[in-house]
Amino acid sequence: MLTSCKGKTALVTGASKGIGKGIARVFAAQGANVALVSRSLAGAEEAAAEIREAGGSALAFEGDVADPASMRRVAADVAEAFSGIDILCANAGIFPSSTIENMTGEDWDRVMNTNARGTLFSLQACLPYLREAEYGRVVVISSITGPVTGYAGWSHYGASKAAQLGFMRSAALELAPYGITINAVMPGNIRTEGLEGMGAEYIQAMASSIPLKQLGEVEDIAYAALFLASKEARFITGQTIVVDGGQILPESLDAMG
Ligand code: NAP
Repeated sequence: MLTSCKGKTALVTGASKGIGKGIARVFAAQGANVALVSRSLAGAEEAAAEIREAGGSALAFEGDVADPASMRRVAADVAEAFSGIDILCANAGIFPSSTIENMTGEDWDRVMNTNARGTLFSLQACLPYLREAEYGRVVVISSITGPVTGYAGWSHYGASKAAQLGFMRSAALELAPYGITINAVMPGNIRTEGLEGMGAEYIQAMASSIPLKQLGEVEDIAYAALFLASKEARFITGQTIVVDGGQILPESLDAMG
């Protein structure tokens, strides 16, 4: 049994939909105050309203993780609204595709700015408040794509997701003196609005390449994040948890059995 996160405040980036919304829902159900951040305030408001209707404590904030000033403003507003920040879930991310032949510098920068720099700016903005927390927790949502696997058309995305992990390992050392831990969840293919946009054919192909024969649900990622954010995970830092239904395991299609 994990110590309840009742009364703790969790700032979740990219929480208007998908995995971020799932994380916010699960943390709120466990009693946390959740701050849902996305560029679209309307989207974050809608997700926060759903959580409040279910009895949770949730507020929406408009913020762009690629913009340090925006994230500083959001963190200050969240800390004021909920008297501090205990947990940061750095989840916001984008995954447009582009072949290497067609990729422009702007394509590369857009993905890096959100996924990699966004992780830095989110942490920088929350750090003063996490330092004040009883036990600060940072959970980064990376991916299997990049750190472990590859996918033609997503080289910039894979680079950004690997960058998050490289960042995390050094960050763990910088944050340790403050008693703050930072860990990452590496999702496989999770059914989200963003992934649905890849089309039915993609989703079908993915499901058949996963040993558990289905895509993951946002809650599968949220519960891994909840554990890493718990009091009981106090001695774990700079580590990763793959949540992928076994997708990275088979050496070949025959190996699937
Ligand atoms: P999604 O359904 O497309 O949702 C993305 C969320 O991020 C939205 O709330 C979006 O809202 C927000 N966002 C995007 N850019 C932002 C920015 N610059 N600042 C603040 N918020 C921003 O995506 P998802 O599938 O849930 O993915 C979430 C995370 O999980 C990403 O980091 C992704 O790389 C990772 N992941 C997902 C999968 C998967 O299978 N779904 C697998 C591996 C890893 P706005 O557009 O309003 O800002």
